Amino acid sequence: MSDCTDCRLAAARVWHGHFWPCSNCCARAIARSLPFWSSRRAGKQLPEYRALLAAHKLTHEQVLDARRRDWLQCLARTDCAAQAAQSTREAYASTLAPEHKRATGL
Ligand SMILES: [Zn+2]
Repeated sequence: MSDCTDCRLAAARVWHGHFWPCSNCCARAIARSLPFWSSRRAGKQLPEYRALLAAHKLTHEQVLDARRRDWLQCLARTDCAAQAAQSTREAYASTLAPEHKRATGL
């Protein structure tokens, strides 16, 4: 585990931050990049994806591992996000007048 702040946050929750000198952060960022997804769609590593890997001295396996870890965080948080959305919906509904609740179905 890296001692990078963005890596620590990404390990604890869904996190968007990336610190470019950190190789783990670079792997996470590349896993979210257009060249990565274009390569997945093409079914092969495209030149722009290989260039990214080479520029950051990373392997495809490191990027896939970073992607898996990010997805596990997303999946772990899905239930929490659904509960938070329901709470927000209920809080919003409590502010509506009865006729607006009927109109919006809340
Ligand atoms: Zn990092």
